[in-house]
Amino acid sequence: MKKLLTQTTLVKSKSYIAGTWVGPKSGKTFSVINPANGEHLMEVSDSGADETTLAIEAAEKAQKSWQTLTAKERATLLRRWNQLILENQDDLASLMTLEQGKPLAEAKGEVVYGASFIDWFADEARRLYGDVIPTFANDRRVLTIKQGIGVVAAITPWNFPIAMITRKAGPALAAGCTIVIKPSDETPLSALALAELAHQAGIPVGVLNVVVGKDAKAIGGVLTSHPTVRKLSFTGSTPVGKLLLSQCAQTVKRTSMELGGNAPFIVFDDADLDAAVEGAIASKYRNAGQTCVCANRILVQDGVYDAFAEKLAARVATFETGEGFKDGVTIGPLINPAAINKVEELVQDAVRKGAKTLLGGVKACEAGAQFFEPTILTNVTQDMAIFSNEIFGPVAPLFRFSTEGEAIALANDTPFGLAAYFYTQNIGRTWRVGEALEYGLVGINEGLISSEVAPFGGMKESGSGREGSKYGIDEYVEIKYLCMGGL
Ligand code: ADP
Repeated sequence: MKKLLTQTTLVKSKSYIAGTWVGPKSGKTFSVINPANGEHLMEVSDSGADETTLAIEAAEKAQKSWQTLTAKERATLLRRWNQLILENQDDLASLMTLEQGKPLAEAKGEVVYGASFIDWFADEARRLYGDVIPTFANDRRVLTIKQGIGVVAAITPWNFPIAMITRKAGPALAAGCTIVIKPSDETPLSALALAELAHQAGIPVGVLNVVVGKDAKAIGGVLTSHPTVRKLSFTGSTPVGKLLLSQCAQTVKRTSMELGGNAPFIVFDDADLDAAVEGAIASKYRNAGQTCVCANRILVQDGVYDAFAEKLAARVATFETGEGFKDGVTIGPLINPAAINKVEELVQDAVRKGAKTLLGGVKACEAGAQFFEPTILTNVTQDMAIFSNEIFGPVAPLFRFSTEGEAIALANDTPFGLAAYFYTQNIGRTWRVGEALEYGLVGINEGLISSEVAPFGGMKESGSGREGSKYGIDEYVEIKYLCMGGL
């Protein structure tokens, strides 16, 4: 594995706590597996509740002095971290492709996207303004200041092993918080490499800690119950999010939840079909369909249904499925055997109930055990499980609708509300549909919409809070009211 990297110092196998690399006393480890071929990449020490407590204590110890640095001083350290991430783009991308599977070009893209949050929030650190509010009594003055909330916990998933961490650590550190991060045990190496670069950047001891371990319940149990932790930021599935919310209720922690989605992608009769096909591809097949903003239900109006299906199939048929390091590959493996089984079951259920397979529909066995062929299903209907379940695989189900009202009703017929997309050339429809969709992010004639400058977050059971943008830092600050009397 190290052969693929220029800087082997980025390969770490222990938790990063209080500026040092530590593991459990027991010496217990867990395996990191390459999803493309099942190859054992390395053993990582299996930290648990004890190490999590140590990390929280380290973060608590560091928080006061981190908070009292000037915003400019914190920003300078964040910029150095950003710079190091960019300088190590190739190695970070290789590590990511090894443990997560996404094609190398996508992994490189994620490194840049991930770093952009550090860069953005380094700037935002200096704009945490308070207010002077017109007073309610002449002998008093009314002021507000914004202060970092304190020690923050972050629990992150495997689909974006770097960006889901930087989206949380960037604003937290900018605001003067310190952080304990629990990455997914599928992708600990990317997280530990980020910690090493934070260390090299001179981020002080205890300000950023990463606890890697297999026992998510034990680590999460400490993070959500420890009174020192004032905030939890979570990205992952809705069931786990609900559990963590209930755990956080006991100590009334602030929470940000980025949970599951069930994104509609609507193609109206008046759409630019070629643009809609490109948008659908970008939204659906990125990361082999394993993102929470991936198009999950492609809703196509009667008049263009067949033409859209045909054009989409012609493009998707050219995709290459395989190991992420191979030139030209656009679809990598799914993360684990459970993921491939789920996708297979959803496709089989749809076909059993009358869907037609226009393309793919089966595992891509030649590529390896965890690959699924890029798939397009037509004649898909609401009674099929694929309508209400997040697919998280390279499968595009095409539903048919007749009217704008029907499309909106179908699109909103889900407890989720993260991302939605629609294609139309009609300006009135742009506003009507844009306003009617119950989603936190809406792509209009655009399939790729995430950026550090824009707010990312869901409605309904897709979560709460926003990441990125000028709003993202608000999740990590308290507004304190100072009333100055006796004037
Ligand atoms: P995904 O399907 O994307 O893996 P999960 O919600 O299962 O979504 O996982 C997201 C993150 O939550 C991972 O870091 C995982 O280890 C963690 N996690 C899973 N279950 C729990 C739990 N009970 N308590 C705390 N963290 C958990």
